[in-house]
Amino acid sequence: MLWRGLTLACPSCGGRGLFRRWALYAIRERCPSCGLRFERMEGHWLGAVAVNTVVSAAAVIATVVAAMLVWGTDVSRGLLLGLAAPVGVGVPVLFDPVSRTLWTAIDALMRPPSPGDFD
Ligand SMILES: [Zn+2]
Repeated sequence: MLWRGLTLACPSCGGRGLFRRWALYAIRERCPSCGLRFERMEGHWLGAVAVNTVVSAAAVIATVVAAMLVWGTDVSRGLLLGLAAPVGVGVPVLFDPVSRTLWTAIDALMRPPSPGDFD
């Protein structure tokens, strides 16, 4: 189920086409294959924001650590900022769709969908 979430598939059926386009807030309300309603409770997408925040922060930290491994601890702040800033801005935007399907999979694991959650 988590793999399905990581690969932008429906956690319930593995169906594809969950997004109208690759952009923020473009996920469909329901899975086009099985009809699972993704937002099964108010505030559902806050979990996706949390997942995205954790992954983005980890990417920024990994970038800084990698730079320090390559150039040593004497690396300039400007270089660190020049490397980490694009990661800190780009990863949250690019990872947004994955964070939504991954969070929906985590939510489905914690609260298995009931028959009323399907169209
Ligand atoms: Zn589905």
